[in-house]
Amino acid sequence: MSNIPACPQCTLENTYPDGDNYVCADCGYEWPIAAASTEEEDKAIVKDANGTVLQDGDAVVLIKDLKVKGSSITLKQGTKVKSIRLVGGDHEVDCKMDAGNFMLKACFLRKA
Ligand SMILES: [Zn+2]
Repeated sequence: MSNIPACPQCTLENTYPDGDNYVCADCGYEWPIAAASTEEEDKAIVKDANGTVLQDGDAVVLIKDLKVKGSSITLKQGTKVKSIRLVGGDHEVDCKMDAGNFMLKACFLRKA
């Protein structure tokens, strides 16, 4: 099992688990592994830019260019993401793209 998520802060993948947290070797950001925790039973409802409720596995389209913090990557408006994964937190949609894995805000996405 090496399914460690990319850093939600800098989006790099030099991350490793440390106790109850994941730690990013690049920016030092730490965040809880708690995704699988039983205490998060009521997952917040995540809605796209149109107010459509998003679910794991949905396909979405970016509705604007998004600059990835800490990198020179810009995710282009109209980019399709085939299968999203919803996670908790500020950037609630985990998007797997050709350029890498990114945590995006649902308000910048539209269900495809
Ligand atoms: Zn980081």
